[in-house]
Amino acid sequence: MKKTPYWPTIFVIGFVHIVAFLGVWHTFEKGVSFLAIIVFIVGYFWTGLGVTVGFHRFYTHRSFQTSKVVAEILLALGEMALQGNRDGWRTVHLAHHRAPDTLRDPHSPVAWENRLYGFYWAHIGWLFFQPLGNPSASDRTRSLGYAFLGLFLPGLILFVFEGWDGALSGTLLAGFMRVVFVWHATWSVNSIGHLWGSRPFPTKDNSRDSWIIGMFGLGDGYHNFHHAFPWSAINGFSIPEKLSDTPGTIISAMGILHLAWNIQSPDNSGKIPETQPGLISV
Ligand SMILES: [Zn+2]
Ligand SMILES: [Zn+2]
Repeated sequence: MKKTPYWPTIFVIGFVHIVAFLGVWHTFEKGVSFLAIIVFIVGYFWTGLGVTVGFHRFYTHRSFQTSKVVAEILLALGEMALQGNRDGWRTVHLAHHRAPDTLRDPHSPVAWENRLYGFYWAHIGWLFFQPLGNPSASDRTRSLGYAFLGLFLPGLILFVFEGWDGALSGTLLAGFMRVVFVWHATWSVNSIGHLWGSRPFPTKDNSRDSWIIGMFGLGDGYHNFHHAFPWSAINGFSIPEKLSDTPGTIISAMGILHLAWNIQSPDNSGKIPETQPGLISV
């Protein structure tokens, strides 16, 4: 099947990578302040959680409930990661879950004979041909607003403390480079998470649990568990597994603080049920 390139995504991915690499050059030339590193790490953590807790576990799988205010904060953080608008993200991800590692999967690495091409396709290639859904004018404006906030707020914060030098390194590193890091962490779940790692649960797909992705992907390394129990808010059965699932730990903490309720998880049998409630489109 011939695919049509989707130029807006190609432009954004290319442009953000180029600016991020300018950030690397700027760092070698001028150095980087401790505060810029802190803003980078905080931005990486919170916008990454906007994707894993917000877009993924809340908006797509409905694995817990929360208030309107917290839902809006999760939405803002997720869209500051520049992964398209929430509804487009949810549609693509549900398509992945409904037919994982088949030709109907938007980003399977194993649907290709050449394993290297499969890796490239699952990691980034599919995005060049994937339209971002059909958001309403207000949703599109909101997404763009949060995306610009994600790119330029770090520079603004650094400007207050360090002047123009801070504004530049804040924008290049904690804005653009941070987006690139979160992108590749998320994309690794689609590529590495369906190629390498362990398969403790006999799912029909090729999903894997990988501690490397768990570390950089903020907990979404338990991808085989996730395909077995997609409605679960917390990945893993043992206490160490649950604690190393950063989004799950955050959701548990939200539960203790009464910021989240109706938190879903499978029973301890480890048996994969016939129907998976986390795949219902809402
Ligand atoms: Zn998957
Ligand atoms: Zn999922």
